[in-house]
Formats: sequence, structure tokens, C-alpha cells
Amino acid sequence: DNPIARKPEWIRVKAPNHPTYHETRALMRDNKLVTVCEEAACPNIGECWSQRHATMMIMGEICTRACAFCNVSTGMPLPLDADEPHRVAEAVAKLGLRHVVITSVDRDDLTDGGAAHFAAVIKAIRGAAPQTTIEILTPDFLRKNNALEVVVEARPDVFNHNLETVPRLYPTIRPGARYYQSLRLLDRVKQLDPSIFTKSGLMLGLGEEKMELAQVMDDLRVADVDFITMGQYLQPTVKHAPVARFVTPEEFEDYGGIARVKGFLQVSSSPLTRSSYHADSDFAALREA
Ligand code: SF4
Ligand code: SF4
Repeated sequence: DNPIARKPEWIRVKAPNHPTYHETRALMRDNKLVTVCEEAACPNIGECWSQRHATMMIMGEICTRACAFCNVSTGMPLPLDADEPHRVAEAVAKLGLRHVVITSVDRDDLTDGGAAHFAAVIKAIRGAAPQTTIEILTPDFLRKNNALEVVVEARPDVFNHNLETVPRLYPTIRPGARYYQSLRLLDRVKQLDPSIFTKSGLMLGLGEEKMELAQVMDDLRVADVDFITMGQYLQPTVKHAPVARFVTPEEFEDYGGIARVKGFLQVSSSPLTRSSYHADSDFAALREA
């Protein structure tokens, strides 16, 4: 028996009931779009959707990986939907977003890992909503030659790839992924196109030590990564990795301070931070600065 740990008071979130929340929800339904906000049972959905900030998940709802923290189903995904780039772009235009975050499941089954589809989505959004800045949160494209080049050539404004946790915990938390592969991916994005902002995120409370976290921050800075996010890991179901501990808001502030000293341009570190949390307002503030 592995009961889900009771959440501390700083994790509790309000039930969504804002009218704009329902509008955002209806638009996602009408355009048959999948969101990571729902798939990951994100605690910020009430707040984000009330401000029309949603993270769309492309390439289906079934993933070829089985990360121990993730609520997305594992299995053999369906073929890509050629109409999806158009539907995503239409939703972005209808929502009138200034910034959008697009993510996907991992598609180890596709020869290019879905790189061309990612590029098609970026292109479609540029066409339908030229004012919207685009942030993509991608898989690692492990063993997919030239996939990264194809995505970078489509020129997203922000390229996000989450390291998720410290290297020691990869075998249990992120089996199927490789820490240095993920790091190298971020490094290569910057080398291919230095005008693209790079970003990465970590979940805390999985058993990582402070020194390990500081090392990961250093690794990210060596790879010239611009933005970092750190948030509390929450166990989606009893089948997922348990929470090792709840990191206090003060510790998150402390880690955020360390990240700023290390030179990240943008730092988000709080219990409810997710890799797309406040991505819209944070990026707008950076561009205005
Ligand atoms: Fe969606 Fe990200 Fe907001 Fe969560 S933090 S509700 S995943 S946009
Ligand atoms: Fe979830 Fe991404 Fe891991 Fe797939 S690769 S199980 S979507 S975290």
C-alpha cells in the first residue's frame, strides 16, 4: 500500500470556476485538442485557463515512454493527424494568445521522432497568429538524426526541454532518457541558432540533494540555457513515483536565488511552478525589459 502523501497547505489550489476557464475548455473541445494541463492533472489549471493560458499537447495522447512521474498513457500511438497543425493554429488565433506553449508525447515510433510535425505546427501558428510568440517543450529526440535541426529551423521563440531531475535519479524516474543526451540537446539548439531562448525545468521532492541540484544548474549554464523552472513533484496516482518530500516555499526561494546568481535570465521556482506556468507573462516581461 502506497497512499499518496497528504499535500501541505501551500499546495492546495482553488477549484476552477471562472467563465474564461469554461470558454478555454470549450475551445479545446471544439478543436479536438489535447492539453497537458488536463493530461497531467495540473494544479494550476483554474488559474491558467482563466487567463487563456493553456499548453497544447500534439501528436496524440499515447506516449512511447513510461516516465515514473508522468500521467500520460504509455503504448503504441496512433498515426499523426495531418490536420492537427491547422487546428492548433486556429485555436491559438481564436484565443488571441500573445504566447503559446506547445508540447508533445514522445514518439520513438516515428523515424524523425515527430520533428517535422513540430515544425509544421510552428509554421501554421506563425501563419494564423503572427504576433504570438511560440514556446515548444520537446521530447529528447534520442537516436533521431537531424530531428533537432528540423525543429530549430522552424524558429520557435523559446525551446524548452526539461531535464526533470538530477542524473542520479534518471534510472528510476526517467528510464528511457539519458541525462547527457538531454543536456546536449539544449546545447545544440543554442549552437544552431543563438537567437532562440532555451529553457529547462526540474521537479523537486523526488529525493534530490541540494548539491546535486546546484550541479544541474551549472550544467545548464555551461549549455547556455537561459531560463529555468523548478516546482514540486506531485504523485499523479499510486502507480507513480512517490513524493520523497515536500520542499518548502522558503527552500524554493532559496533555489531560485541560487539560479539567479548562476546567471539564468529568467527563473521560476515555487511549489506550483510548472514548466509552462506563467510562461506567457514571464516571456512578455522579458521582451519588454
Ligand atoms: Fe497548463 Fe502549464 Fe498552466 Fe499547468 S502550468 S495549467 S500545464 S499552462
Ligand atoms: Fe510523459 Fe513525456 Fe515521459 Fe512520455 S516522455 S511518459 S509524455 S514525461
